[in-house]
Amino acid sequence: MLTPQQQPYNQQLNDCLLRKKDITLVVKREDVLHEHVSGNKFRKLYYNMIEARKKGYDQLLTFGGAYSNHIAATAAAGKELGIQTIGVIRGDELGENLEQTLQENPTLRFAVSQGMQLHFVSRKAYRQKTEPEFIENLFQLFGKFYLVPEGGTNELAVKGTGEILTPEDEAFDYICSAVGTGGTIAGLINSAQPHQKVLGFPALKENFLHRDIAKYAQSDHWELIRDYHFGGFAKIDKKLVNFINLVNTLHNLPLDPVYTGKMLYGIIDLIKKKYFPKGSKILAIHTGGLQGKAGMNLRLKQKNLPLLK
Ligand SMILES: *Cc1c(COP(=O)(O)O)cnc(C)c1O
Repeated sequence: MLTPQQQPYNQQLNDCLLRKKDITLVVKREDVLHEHVSGNKFRKLYYNMIEARKKGYDQLLTFGGAYSNHIAATAAAGKELGIQTIGVIRGDELGENLEQTLQENPTLRFAVSQGMQLHFVSRKAYRQKTEPEFIENLFQLFGKFYLVPEGGTNELAVKGTGEILTPEDEAFDYICSAVGTGGTIAGLINSAQPHQKVLGFPALKENFLHRDIAKYAQSDHWELIRDYHFGGFAKIDKKLVNFINLVNTLHNLPLDPVYTGKMLYGIIDLIKKKYFPKGSKILAIHTGGLQGKAGMNLRLKQKNLPLLK
């Protein structure tokens, strides 16, 4: 079983904007669950790992981009539990010179250090990753394996993310989360109280999310706020970098650039715009993902942008 290294805790933020607007803003530090299987990836892998073990699999295969938090987390979880992991990575050009790729990419370097076997596929092939034919091909290549979909989202993942909220969190009016594939917010929706509203901040521009979430969500007390993706997945600008660094300095709260940074930026902006009624109590979930900062800093450096602290 995956074992937490530290129990998550609630961190209240204090500043004059929150006092002025009479808003309580608390961050649930799920990022501390595990150094390498961080935040929601721990929750999503937890029951999948138990299932893989129970069914006698000794290999687990999953998918991700070159800087994927899910790839890093799966590699570390596999190492911890003694299950061989295979990562199908988007971008066949990355496989052409593996040594150079690993030198340049901290996420993939980490995954390999945890024993993950990488399998690079073209962007076109990657889009076929849920097609039976594509999967059959992978079985031919690697033999029997337990399959975890991209981003780790499936029924068992949603069961795991349903364990993020605790009885003490019933006092909150709003639960906020970053959204990628939707597995995390689905678990939050299913475990939230009827008086609570769950707000999702998608990190992607795509519009299919609503349907994907509705597939797992058992209530309609939720909404997606689509104004804070900053141009799309893993896109970032100076404003966001400065915000993340400021929050780190002022509140001792490290955020990641792909998900949690954008979510908190959105929450603060909505507070400024009086979206939340006076007296509202907001719980924002820190879903982890801090491993992504190193890779993002390499890209920021190339673009001569300020770096994440
Ligand atoms: C993967 C990830 C998400 C997205 O989770 P989904 O369940 O795919 O919506 C959010 N935050 C962080 C930090 C992540 O790594």
